[in-house]
Amino acid sequence: MNSLAKRSLHTVWPLVMRLSRHRKPCVIGLHNPRPENLDAILRTLSDFGCFVPYERMADELLTGKTPPPGFVVTFDDGYAENMDLLEVLANHRCQAMFFVSTATLDRPNPLWFMNTPDPERLKARLRQLPYHAFLSEIEESGLTKRAPNRDRFGLTTAELRTIRSHGHGIGIHTHNHVFLSSLSPADVEEEIQTCSKLLRDALASNDLPLHVAYPDGNHDAQVVQTMLSLGALTAVTTNPGSLAEARLNPLALPRVMLDDDEYPGYAAFKTGSIYKRMKRQHI
Ligand SMILES: [Zn+2]
Repeated sequence: MNSLAKRSLHTVWPLVMRLSRHRKPCVIGLHNPRPENLDAILRTLSDFGCFVPYERMADELLTGKTPPPGFVVTFDDGYAENMDLLEVLANHRCQAMFFVSTATLDRPNPLWFMNTPDPERLKARLRQLPYHAFLSEIEESGLTKRAPNRDRFGLTTAELRTIRSHGHGIGIHTHNHVFLSSLSPADVEEEIQTCSKLLRDALASNDLPLHVAYPDGNHDAQVVQTMLSLGALTAVTTNPGSLAEARLNPLALPRVMLDDDEYPGYAAFKTGSIYKRMKRQHI
């Protein structure tokens, strides 16, 4: 998550309402919501539009069409608890996209920001480091060490297959969840290719179209250029907006991050007050 993603629902919820009111397609980003919170979010969204599978949205965009109005739901990082969301997604007939960082795949270790009290501060410090210094730092400082109080943080191969068998997409979120704009093109390539290969092996499939979510939304023109040269089809950012914008770049797509109760606006949303206020003001 980055500071943009941390915009509270007080800020982003009106945007979602505005986009949906004008029947504009919109990508929604989540991380690790509790099932009841996801249920509340999907229930509210479904009042305003249908759920569109990521790959259908991508097909439409890449053939030069505007995707149908509705919501494309995505989850970042690949948390073990994401498995608890499959029933909720099925209840809402929502086919989602899971962008997975593979450093935790089949391992008990956390990603470097998952087991720390202040991930934003840590990110601010580590994003200054060159790639190999960053990798040494997360290793040496014990950030990716197995936690005594927890079995694991990420998904397993078997769970990825289950997610896929439920009709959801699996996408790339880099191997180590790195800040791509501070990497050389060769290092960006390594992070993307490692993640892609591990996911293809896990799914026992060579058929894994390259759809990417930039970790923390972090990207620049050179990163986008590298994605193009790697054959990536789409990439999502954390810049809020709709898919109906003119001159949309498929490798830097807008996405509205709507996270759960660590965000100050969520409690208000949960009790319905934001939703009701939005309804009064806009609908
Ligand atoms: Zn992430």
